[in-house]
Amino acid sequence: MTTIPTITLNDGVEIPMFGFGVYQIPADGSTYKAVREALDLGIRHIDTATAYFNEQEVGKAIHDSGVPRQDIFLTSKLWVQDYGFSAAEKGIETSLRKLGTDYMDLYLIHHPYGDVPGAWKAMEAAKKAGKIRSIGVSNMTPTIWNSFISQLETVPSVNQVEFNPLYQQKELRALMAQYNVHVEAWAPLGQGNSDLLNCSVITAIAAAHGKTAAQVVLRFEIQENVIVFPKSTHLERIKSNMDVFDFTLTDSEMEQIRALDTGKGMWNPDAPGVAEFLLSAYDVHAND
Ligand code: NAD
Repeated sequence: MTTIPTITLNDGVEIPMFGFGVYQIPADGSTYKAVREALDLGIRHIDTATAYFNEQEVGKAIHDSGVPRQDIFLTSKLWVQDYGFSAAEKGIETSLRKLGTDYMDLYLIHHPYGDVPGAWKAMEAAKKAGKIRSIGVSNMTPTIWNSFISQLETVPSVNQVEFNPLYQQKELRALMAQYNVHVEAWAPLGQGNSDLLNCSVITAIAAAHGKTAAQVVLRFEIQENVIVFPKSTHLERIKSNMDVFDFTLTDSEMEQIRALDTGKGMWNPDAPGVAEFLLSAYDVHAND
């Protein structure tokens, strides 16, 4: 079985560098199946969220897998409707209940709008109570980070942001390094973007190593010290995506891929109206 390296976050919590993301996998048995397959293959890090509406299937897959809970690194996220102290307290309890677990390894502020400091206090309290081991944020740009950081007593352990060779977040990563905050990549494969996976620089490097373009992209990200959890519902792809620990990109290959950065992603958290858009996109209380 592939040995997946871990790194230590700024709060001392150890996290596997490679995991499995379940965004957009429906809760119709598909999430259960994919997470069981990922765990069977030896993946021990699962990334879900309240707003993915599949926490229950993730929890059941973990339970049925027979893998001891303490061997799995489980992340979920609090949705924007649940910010402010008491709403966040309830949101945390709901995630724990749906996941069928006593604790989450990592819990994130999914999108940074509204009463983030109030929600953060509830996350700090849950951490003290042993319900969450590590607390972090997501989608914080330098502007958003700088607007919130002085209001947060605990420095977040991670910032989960869009990251791949076409959008390398260089300014943000330099800022996160100053705070010793680890960057996690969402859309590590550009959500299957063919501009990325068919890019000639990447396919040439892939050919040189006898690897696929997706494997080269993920390897680049890991060598950049970014935590990744690509999503797939196809067993062969889940298998091949984790097969990235038996080769190393050279300095020159890393430089060639660094040069692909366009400085632009699919998602701009600083854009006006983002919070309103998110609130209209998902209602996590529709079935309350
Ligand atoms: P991704 O970059 O992991 O892309 C997934 C898609 O890439 C798949 O649907 C498939 O079409 C394609 N793919 C997968 N393996 C492939 C392969 N080997 N070859 C070719 N194509 C392949 O995108 P993602 O799912 O958005 O991101 C990963 C995870 O990040 C999510 O599942 C979720 O857990 C997390 N995420 C977080 C946020 C956030 O706001 N915090 C946003 C999006 C995603």
